[in-house]
Amino acid sequence: MIDLLLRNARLAGHDALTDIAVADGVIVPGTPAGTVPPAGGVAEVIDLGGRLVTPPLVEPHIHLDAVLTVGQPRPNISGSLFEGIAVWAERVRDLTYSDVQSRVRQVLRWQLTCGVQHVRSHVDVCDPQLTALRALADLREEVRGLIDLQLVAFPQQGILGFDGGKELMRKAVELGADVIGGIPHYELTREDGVESVRFALALADEHGLRVDIHCDETDDDHSRFVEVLAAETIRRGMSGRVTASHTTAMHSYNGAYAYRLIRNIARAGLHMVTNPLDNSVLQGRFDTGPVRRGHTRVKELQAAGINVCIGHDSVMDPWYPLGYGDPLQAAFVLVHYGQMSGDRELRRLIEMITVNPAAALGVPGYGLREGGPADLVVFDAPSEADALRLIAPRTLVLRGGRIVARSTPAQHIVTWQGTEEPVTFLRA
Ligand SMILES: [Zn+2]
Repeated sequence: MIDLLLRNARLAGHDALTDIAVADGVIVPGTPAGTVPPAGGVAEVIDLGGRLVTPPLVEPHIHLDAVLTVGQPRPNISGSLFEGIAVWAERVRDLTYSDVQSRVRQVLRWQLTCGVQHVRSHVDVCDPQLTALRALADLREEVRGLIDLQLVAFPQQGILGFDGGKELMRKAVELGADVIGGIPHYELTREDGVESVRFALALADEHGLRVDIHCDETDDDHSRFVEVLAAETIRRGMSGRVTASHTTAMHSYNGAYAYRLIRNIARAGLHMVTNPLDNSVLQGRFDTGPVRRGHTRVKELQAAGINVCIGHDSVMDPWYPLGYGDPLQAAFVLVHYGQMSGDRELRRLIEMITVNPAAALGVPGYGLREGGPADLVVFDAPSEADALRLIAPRTLVLRGGRIVARSTPAQHIVTWQGTEEPVTFLRA
């Protein structure tokens, strides 16, 4: 018995259409597109009409504890990163358990509607009560089976630069943090920054956890903590378990230094996450020219064979007033600021919100294949390029073979020379 038969799917990376049959939550060997359903019956058939199908979108970098706090307790007037951190430090004092949970529930719903099923969220632990972490740890259980949530113990004000920082990091692990974070460029001195990276990796190593460091999120070309992160990862043999996020200072490094650094990042097996939405508005603000646009050296890292992912970073908080949690929006921005408009590059951008972050998060059994879980996302677009161009709605989101979200794309009508006619934005 087939529970669901999706006809005429176009799998990412393929041109031919295919059918996807689902039974008991698992993708079963399908039939070629357009053939009759197999004997034994099919409970439900949906014709996808050649629409693009990918595995679930994966969000490798978001700050769920801060979502929907834009303007609270006061607006970020300058729009700068530093004013954002100051505004957030004030908001943290008002956090309550239910305040965090109700805001995060709303954004998780938005993300699922966009096809996101795996989320890594940084959670500020520079709060003696650890209110946000407690609220999110409980929410992680509440949404299990729908969205897999990884929580990063993230010291927004620093590990050494915040009173009791190291103790709060250890406490966060006891409360169930999945990943160890850090912010070395924000520590009081270069030496403190180095020590914070060493502390984070030692703590993760001790508990068998992954690491994800906010690293060199500045325009300062002297901010060089990715090299420390790579070196520590190599020394501890933690290859594959460590991610460097933001790394915007790389746009300021001289070519010779960047060349050496990228080789070491490859040797260490670091994952890299770039966050085009926030960093395109936050970075390069001290420049008179050239104007830097706030992301890491995406193309050079990829040319060296390094796994690079796209994160959303913020949803309506002191650092970024827009967003509804859709990774496709972040990918759309990277097309422009990363100048990734080549045909191959457009396909790669979809990988940067699916398979690449799945590798960084260590999602087990990820991907569409026979015998694998029926977790998938249908885009209202026939190709990766069209999905990006249209920031296409996700018409269907499946988790374990169940429809967990769907949307009816907007109908567009134009009156053309006196006649009403429907419009699609697809090329004829
Ligand atoms: Zn971040």
